[in-house]
Amino acid sequence: MQHFLLSAAARTLSLKAVFRMGEDVAYQTFCQLRWPETEGEAVCPRCGCTESYSIATRRKFKCVACHHQFSVTSGTIFASRKLSFTDLLAAIVIFVNGAKGVSALQVSRDLDVQYKTAFVLSHKLREAMAREQEGRVLNGVVEIDGGYFGGHVKPENRKEDRKDRRLKANTSGKRQCVVIMRERGGKSLPFIVANEGDAVPYVRDHVGTLATIHADEGSGWDALHAGWDTKRVNHSVAFMDKGVCTNQAESYFSRLRRMEVGTHHHIAGPYLASYAREASWREDNRRVANGTQTAMVGVAAMASRVSRQWKGYWQR
Ligand SMILES: [Zn+2]
Repeated sequence: MQHFLLSAAARTLSLKAVFRMGEDVAYQTFCQLRWPETEGEAVCPRCGCTESYSIATRRKFKCVACHHQFSVTSGTIFASRKLSFTDLLAAIVIFVNGAKGVSALQVSRDLDVQYKTAFVLSHKLREAMAREQEGRVLNGVVEIDGGYFGGHVKPENRKEDRKDRRLKANTSGKRQCVVIMRERGGKSLPFIVANEGDAVPYVRDHVGTLATIHADEGSGWDALHAGWDTKRVNHSVAFMDKGVCTNQAESYFSRLRRMEVGTHHHIAGPYLASYAREASWREDNRRVANGTQTAMVGVAAMASRVSRQWKGYWQR
């Protein structure tokens, strides 16, 4: 059987198609996402044996070699799932379809599941998206820029009571800086620091030494000149100067801001890195058809070990 999500029909994938395929086909699809190298035939997660007895009624397998019993989701982020395979697949489709991200509330309403189920599931899908960014090294022309999120301090009502919110003493201390590094015509990689200037060690780990870096006039980037061929553009003068610009980095921030304003209303705090990686995945794959995006997230999710952060989240 051909991998459904890689077939021509799945280049675009509608929710209607997901629900029409039914639970058995959805289950087969997850087997193919989990074991792509055997075209969906079960592989024992304990010993790697490719022969197993199938306990079809319970959708379980028993390894011929070591007798280990397992299911298609054992050891993945979907272990101890509460949803049907159709719902899980539909959740991935809903999630990848949201160009500005998808709120847990929306997933909860669309699939008629509890809010907390939708919340944990959405974060697991973000984690799956982030997997392909692990260990990424950027080369060629790399644009770098930072944007501040969170820690909004509401101004006082009366002018005479207002403080200068630009002063460090008058900030909430919750402000965080998302730094995006984006290869021109290639992939992006975000990370979180307190201030732009703290970014240099991360850049060292993830940008090749032969790369050319484009950054704005912010003094936090001055240190980059020592390690890379670095070109600067002064945004108070022009957005592009002799081919030097950070426009790709800016479009990343435009998406992340739209996620903040239009969907989540609040992305700062402990989950900022998850949202930043999600926005990066969405930018990098923005021209990929949603059926293929679903397959990408599905394969990454089924290859992921149980997330320590989200495993038994509600039992804590
Ligand atoms: Zn085994």
